Amino acid sequence: METQKRPTVFATRYLHFLIGAAIVALLWWNYRHPRPVQLDSGYRPVMGTVAHIVAVAPDAPTAQRAIEAGFDTLERLEKMMSDYDPNSELSALNRQAFEKPVAVSEELFEVISAAVEFSRLSEGAFDITIAPVVQVWRRAKQTAVAPTEQELANAKAKVGWQHLRLDAAQRTVQFAQEGMALDLGGIAKGYAADKAVAAMRAAGAVGGLVDIGGDMTCFGKPADGKSRWRIGLQDPTQDEQILLRLELEDHAIATSGDYRRFVMLDGKRYSHIINPASATSVSELCSVSIIAPTGMQADALATAVSVLGEQKGRELVEKLPDVEAILIRSDQPDALIFTSGMSRYLPK
Ligand code: AMP
Ligand code: MG
Repeated sequence: METQKRPTVFATRYLHFLIGAAIVALLWWNYRHPRPVQLDSGYRPVMGTVAHIVAVAPDAPTAQRAIEAGFDTLERLEKMMSDYDPNSELSALNRQAFEKPVAVSEELFEVISAAVEFSRLSEGAFDITIAPVVQVWRRAKQTAVAPTEQELANAKAKVGWQHLRLDAAQRTVQFAQEGMALDLGGIAKGYAADKAVAAMRAAGAVGGLVDIGGDMTCFGKPADGKSRWRIGLQDPTQDEQILLRLELEDHAIATSGDYRRFVMLDGKRYSHIINPASATSVSELCSVSIIAPTGMQADALATAVSVLGEQKGRELVEKLPDVEAILIRSDQPDALIFTSGMSRYLPK
């Protein structure tokens, strides 16, 4: 009997030791590799819409600091780039740049220079000098009277990205034509989201996303162990409905569409996106979502493709590396049109 008991006692003791060692190893591992914390800011009003920021960081105070750094950046850039605010740097530029070259901040120069590149790339479909025409349509919205051909023609005569004079060495902007003005509404949100991400990284975040009214830039990974951020693309025809689930990592998505902002005149719906070639509002595509490496690219291209329409828009996206699009035609609102590499962002 004695001889049979002994190995059991020995095994039990050995097991205790093993379990103890495993617990110590686990505690040590958790101490050395703390699980990242993920915080969500909830929605806050900024840039004429609502934004929310998610931050992943080694601890909660760092995540919270990253969120605040992100919002500080959004608010700062809104004050700089808003054309509604007469005190913004952009409004001051618009008032003075015909008379003389105006020195601007590094960020304003960066976004204006990038916008000119998107004008070149889209052969003028994207054009931040569209402001005089946008003003005519804004007045029409206020008075509920459609603009006359003459009003639109007068405004259109002041539009043209080729008349922007940029001096990178002096960091100045000048308008070569009287009455010109800039509107950054088609690019500022994406640019701001990218800058907010940079501020979050600097504050210690290792992952997160910045969502400004549905346009978002993601970085790193979520804290739940998944490798990509899961994003719901809103249905343009039905509020609160998710049209499509997407998964992104270190990419941005932006959507342009007439379902968000439009003008109703005489029972007709006018998009807030203008074709610079005709000064009229665009109508072929009711929704354009672009996935691109940066928020600024996604934002500017979503506006550009809305102007270009399905065929030319697809051609542009297909020739750009690492850019994809989801298009919806106004006359076929139930069909989603994907560019060739879209499947890589769909859930597996
Ligand atoms: P988004 O929602 O990004 O497509 O931006 C639309 C906003 O961009 C409009 O409200 C205008 O302020 C501005 N915009 C309109 N048409 C154009 C255009 N063709 N190129 C650049 N910006 C535009
Ligand atoms: Mg845009």
